[in-house]
Amino acid sequence: MPEPESTTCAISGGGPAGVMLALLLARAGVEVTVLEKHGDFLRDFRGDTVHPSTLELLDELGLADELERIPHRDLTTVRMDTLDGTLVDADLRRFAPRRKYRHIAMIPQWDFLTLLVEHARRYPAFRLLMNAETLGPIEHGGAVRGLRYRDADGEHDLRAVLTVAADGRRSDLRRAAGMIPIDFGAPMDVLWLRVSRRPGDVGGGLTARIGKGEMAGAIDRGDYWQIAFLIPKGSYRRIREQGLDELRTRLARLLPFLGDRVNEIDDWDKVAFLEVGVNRLRRWDRPGLLAIGDAAHTMSPIGGVGINLAIQDAVATANLLAGPLLRAQADPARFDRTLNPRLVRRVQRRRALPTIGTQLVQLTAQRRLIDRILDGEEPRLPAFLNGERAGCVLSQLFARIMLYGILPEHVRTPDRSGAAAPAPADRAR
Ligand SMILES: Cc1cc2nc3c(=O)[nH]c(=O)nc-3n(C[C@H](O)[C@H](O)[C@H](O)COP(=O)(O)OP(=O)(O)OC[C@H]3O[C@@H](n4cnc5c(N)ncnc54)[C@H](O)[C@@H]3O)c2cc1C
Repeated sequence: MPEPESTTCAISGGGPAGVMLALLLARAGVEVTVLEKHGDFLRDFRGDTVHPSTLELLDELGLADELERIPHRDLTTVRMDTLDGTLVDADLRRFAPRRKYRHIAMIPQWDFLTLLVEHARRYPAFRLLMNAETLGPIEHGGAVRGLRYRDADGEHDLRAVLTVAADGRRSDLRRAAGMIPIDFGAPMDVLWLRVSRRPGDVGGGLTARIGKGEMAGAIDRGDYWQIAFLIPKGSYRRIREQGLDELRTRLARLLPFLGDRVNEIDDWDKVAFLEVGVNRLRRWDRPGLLAIGDAAHTMSPIGGVGINLAIQDAVATANLLAGPLLRAQADPARFDRTLNPRLVRRVQRRRALPTIGTQLVQLTAQRRLIDRILDGEEPRLPAFLNGERAGCVLSQLFARIMLYGILPEHVRTPDRSGAAAPAPADRAR
């Protein structure tokens, strides 16, 4: 029988968490294999909000200029109106005036991932398998020793010292390993749509409007508006039954400046459905296995932090485990030994406060603001969103948590492979 494939770190899922972790480990000389079940990264509206915390990390990796070359829009203002007046009118640049990055870069996730992968490919220790679907863990001796996956050639075993579940909110690996997250619930789901942006439209930023029992936001994406329409949890089928005409009427009522082009939404294929969930694993690890990103904690879309927390998890994991993995890589008996579980557990210890803290803020906003809006009650801002009534301190704190994160991570792993410094990308677009 042929020897099964092997690597030092097997990562299930080529999303922001998996690809960033793979890049950092490969850069530090750790052999890594990422498995992505899709054949490309083309998924619309999937975490396009690249916050200053992530921009700082890309800067540390020398990728800031390449990111800047990707066509995108910088979001600097957030405004929330009711039918009667303005509730929130914030300029993000004033929350941390001395920091280098003070905006949210609205970057299509496939461009962002392509940038990371292009950079990671410069390191010989990096391997990415597309169209490779993880089926479950390989276990023996009470520990996970790799994973089983399927590709066009059939099923394969991939042995690994550490296996990472970075396969998102519906993680197959997490489920197969018997890890069940605690669900905190959400009152809403979100429909994502786009309509064209025309010269002369109100400029920039995010504009949200609250109506009677409904809410929509429009984000300036340059040549189009990305619209988020909040619907009560579980009501998507009913809304489809009511028809596109009704949806267009409601959108035009909420966002009158787009009324002349909501007709562009002429097919349900143009409507992306996000089933909102907020959950978290009690334990992110088992011997030989670690969950990060959405697989460990699905975030509410409030604040657009999901991708950024996933990236922060990846950086923390690399900072804490690159050294031990590199040492294990030199051990001929590595596939029969389990990486010290106490070391692996340090990832959750490090990331617990940012995750729980951010989810608490989101759950409060869901309960105090979104719940009331969808019930048709007068919206009441939680204190941390209400700069005037609570003083600016709580609002400042909220903005800094959302933009920079709690305990922000920095790249501490070395660039050991001797790969050439990143050259300006020849981006095939
Ligand atoms: C419609 C939508 C809109 C969103 N909008 C925002 C937003 O505006 N801002 C924000 O910050 N966040 C947003 N999010 C959340 C954000 O996308 C996630 O928080 C973020 O992408 C998490 O990164 P991740 O790497 O942990 O998981 P994911 O991005 O989910 O990546 C997981 C990867 O694993 C792959 N995979 C799954 N199962 C397998 C398997 N069995 N084998 C191999 N590969 C597998 C998937 O194809 C995927 O590529 C949105 C999510 C959705 C669904």
